[in-house]
Amino acid sequence: MKNNRRKFLKNLAGISGIATSMVPGFASAKSAVSLSSAEIKDIRLSNNQGYLRLVFDLNGIADHSVFTLDKPDRVVLDIKNATMPHGLVDRVQANALIRSIRSGVQNKKDLRVVFDLSQSVSARSFILGPSEKSGHRLVIDLHHNKTITRSKIKKINKRDVVIAIDAGHGGKDPGAIGRSGTREKTVTLQIAKKLQKYINQQRGMQAVLIRKNDRFMRLRERIQKAREYHADLMISLHADSFPDPRARGSSIYALSVDGASSETARMLADKENAVDLLFGNVDLAVQDPMVQEVLFDLSLTGTIESSLDIGGEIIDQIKSVNRVHKKKVQQAGFAVLKAPNIPSVLLETAFISNPREEKNLRSSSHQKKVAKAITRGIGKYFARKAPPGTWLAASQGSYAISSGDDVTAIAKNHNVDEQDLRARNALYANNLIAGQVIKIPVS
Ligand SMILES: [Zn+2]
Repeated sequence: MKNNRRKFLKNLAGISGIATSMVPGFASAKSAVSLSSAEIKDIRLSNNQGYLRLVFDLNGIADHSVFTLDKPDRVVLDIKNATMPHGLVDRVQANALIRSIRSGVQNKKDLRVVFDLSQSVSARSFILGPSEKSGHRLVIDLHHNKTITRSKIKKINKRDVVIAIDAGHGGKDPGAIGRSGTREKTVTLQIAKKLQKYINQQRGMQAVLIRKNDRFMRLRERIQKAREYHADLMISLHADSFPDPRARGSSIYALSVDGASSETARMLADKENAVDLLFGNVDLAVQDPMVQEVLFDLSLTGTIESSLDIGGEIIDQIKSVNRVHKKKVQQAGFAVLKAPNIPSVLLETAFISNPREEKNLRSSSHQKKVAKAITRGIGKYFARKAPPGTWLAASQGSYAISSGDDVTAIAKNHNVDEQDLRARNALYANNLIAGQVIKIPVS
């Protein structure tokens, strides 16, 4: 046993490539009492279909990050201000995926754990708060990259909700141009592509791009495309522009196509007009001809309700990313257009005419944040109101959350995939609310 362990350590020491030092005198359970530092109490492994789960039992909340490296394949876990009892990693059994585990101290107080792997994986991590049976946990799921192909996992009997993403402008029409030369058509396409990626990562939703490249398209063509795709929602992405460079923030317009304008819509529009706006009636003095065309070419009907609802969910999420220009979803469009009955929203992501927002619009990380926020908003809407016949509308039952419940356990107890459970209920965080009723998805 001793001998074996020494071999194991030697093996670990021989694997290099990362600035990790071996830790001979690591803090023991007793010495790690500093209030601000976290301690790993135990590491547990469980094999699941398509992924390996690592659970780190902690004595408190820990700030962590996880990333993967290749050649050789590794997963690296960094935990700020944390300790681990000496020898704990040695107790973790090597298996088909994990060849060995090493740990080390960084910056004198941070913990780094490196898993040497036999193949490449995608790593996903999340924190679980204390439950009846367990304390704080850090969970890392290692998905085998070979087997994660969504199309294989997906079952076809229930269709996906289809979201048509319409990147504003394109080709000879650059849209608005920022003070540093950023073109609206470029950033809308970049955000559209990111949005497509994030939506497609969610079970039950499929995103299609109305334009995939820098090409000019008329509004009619765009709507025609959305109709061909049988879209359940069309989201048009734009960036606002205004002569006053101080104008900033995101706004969303709810649109609906088809039919004549209704009394309700007019009432809503009047109400909206009564709201005091920081920059005046920007919405009524839209600078962008394309947005004007969309707004004035489309009419309000019954689907406006859905559009407003979706718009509300999206703006709720956008709030975490950008200042919201107007708190409410704005209704638009008064003219009549014969077009498909597709709920539509038009998002003015930010003001390209505002130097600070222009910078954000160009930034890949900001674009990702925006795309993720939109995805959450759309997910939240369809988790409640997916069209009949879709996977998101189906469920095999409901479950009322009690305090101490966690998503992982609920999924396990109902024998459903955790990601499916999250997608079906738009559970993007781990803070379940006691009494909240969630749907158990179908497979
Ligand atoms: Zn535009």
